[in-house]
Amino acid sequence: MSAEEYTDQWLDEHCGDMLNDLARLIAIPSQRGEASEGAPFGPGPAAALKEAVAICRELGLRPNVYGDCIATADINEKVSGLDIICHLDVVGTGEGWDSDPYTMVIKDGCVFGRGTADDKGPAIASLYALKAVAESGAPLRAGARVILGTNEESGMQDLPFFYDNPDVRPAPCTISPDTHFPVVNVEKGHYLMSVSRSWGVTDALPRVVSASSGDTFNVIPADAGAVVAGISPGELQTLCAPAADTLGVMISCSEARNGAQISVKGVSSHAAYPDGSRNALTALLGILSDLPLADCDSTDAIRRLSGIFPFGDSRGKVLGIAQEDDISGPLTLSFTILRLDESGVRCTLDGRVPICATEDNCCRIAEERLGAAGFTVEGHIEPAHHTPADSEFVQALLRCYEAVTGKEGFCQSMGGGTYVHNVEGGVAFGAAMPGYDTMMHSANEHMPIGDLLAAAKIYARSILAICS
Ligand SMILES: [Zn+2]
Repeated sequence: MSAEEYTDQWLDEHCGDMLNDLARLIAIPSQRGEASEGAPFGPGPAAALKEAVAICRELGLRPNVYGDCIATADINEKVSGLDIICHLDVVGTGEGWDSDPYTMVIKDGCVFGRGTADDKGPAIASLYALKAVAESGAPLRAGARVILGTNEESGMQDLPFFYDNPDVRPAPCTISPDTHFPVVNVEKGHYLMSVSRSWGVTDALPRVVSASSGDTFNVIPADAGAVVAGISPGELQTLCAPAADTLGVMISCSEARNGAQISVKGVSSHAAYPDGSRNALTALLGILSDLPLADCDSTDAIRRLSGIFPFGDSRGKVLGIAQEDDISGPLTLSFTILRLDESGVRCTLDGRVPICATEDNCCRIAEERLGAAGFTVEGHIEPAHHTPADSEFVQALLRCYEAVTGKEGFCQSMGGGTYVHNVEGGVAFGAAMPGYDTMMHSANEHMPIGDLLAAAKIYARSILAICS
């Protein structure tokens, strides 16, 4: 029997143990909390790390903990040839679960619970892959290591405790099982823009006295609201009704002090994946721009913002920064936060930019266009991450994926960033199958057991391919 056949078979036989260990991690609510001694990201992440280290010990892997927030498990004493970096922290649960998010449930061939797909399931699959290779007895010329972080979801501040340690050397190859198979070899760059303008108080009527939408830079808002002084709710409703149909959003108007309140309901999505969303913020700006408002600063700012960032333009076309390249795909630009009051407006826009994007062909153009419209722009480009598709490492990963799944391997680009964004030679690899929606970050997050097992087999074969 080949080493690959052995690891496949060993993982089939130990799938039940793998799920039992996963249930131990799912039971720990490990979203970020208040820092304390020995728990820099709060008690949840610290408890999950402790439990994972216990699991590593039970599996005979060699755990080490760095800065109370990131742990490693090594297959042997050799220098690592392949690092597999996962995370044990989770996002909050939100509403709408059919079962307790912190009790792992097996249903319809899937495991359900917060973290089953993002990223505790892949972390356990990686640890079992290490164990399977160790059990196979295959001779390894290099080590292999699973790295378990606890702050991926809120800033990745755990990484420096590991990578900046003088005793630590990153492996020449790194994978992060925190998205979809096959290989993600491009993570777009990030252009987070702050746009603002101030003005003096006026009593012109009718005018928008306040507007607000969004609270997270990387989430397209589903809700937006504004107060318009000098207009009645009935009048506002009549003026807005046609826009609701054109834009495909819901609009409601109610009584407010000195005027009327308008609320817009759209469809949210991650800022890096705007297709399919209906941005309530840009819809609101569009609706307000069409109202018969008094000639004043807030009216001018709203009309100019809506003109430059119209509803439905998620590529920065009107702003003049739309671009794409063959490796990374198109630039996306999502308007995510708006705060307008009697003295000015502050906005946040989240741009995910291809490899070809530069400060000159993005930032300077945005600054010029918005500057001419009276706004101040701040922000710069965090560069894209790219590991060449034709590298021996990436080709080896694709062969392992093909051997286990029988499907064709390929490389892809994504707008989000993983742990490997700043790790040279790193790629994201699994653990969800292509096109499968595990509902990560939403209610009823789950992972098909067959896919989790396949992922463990792919990782075991990857360790064998790269380290033996
Ligand atoms: Zn994740």
